[in-house]
Amino acid sequence: MPSRFLAIHCSKCDTFIAKYRKEGSGSLIRMYLERISAPEESPTEFKNSLKEKSARLSCYGCSQTLGKLNPKSSPASYNLIKGAYRKKKIDD
Ligand SMILES: [Zn+2]
Repeated sequence: MPSRFLAIHCSKCDTFIAKYRKEGSGSLIRMYLERISAPEESPTEFKNSLKEKSARLSCYGCSQTLGKLNPKSSPASYNLIKGAYRKKKIDD
């Protein structure tokens, strides 16, 4: 399975939310928490929300909701809200 890195940005304020390791070639519908890396400069509150698997994935720039925790998913994942985020490919 091919694996690649995506940069997830908020569609509203363009804040860089996280780096995500995407597997497979399908479209991005959900993000597994174990593959999300918060940027160094993000607030501790945001990093903790990922650690604690908070019910919502929110932008720390404008508080827009980007995804909602899927209660049935194992491992834990966020179902992303269409139009709330933008993704960019990261070349490594
Ligand atoms: Zn935002």
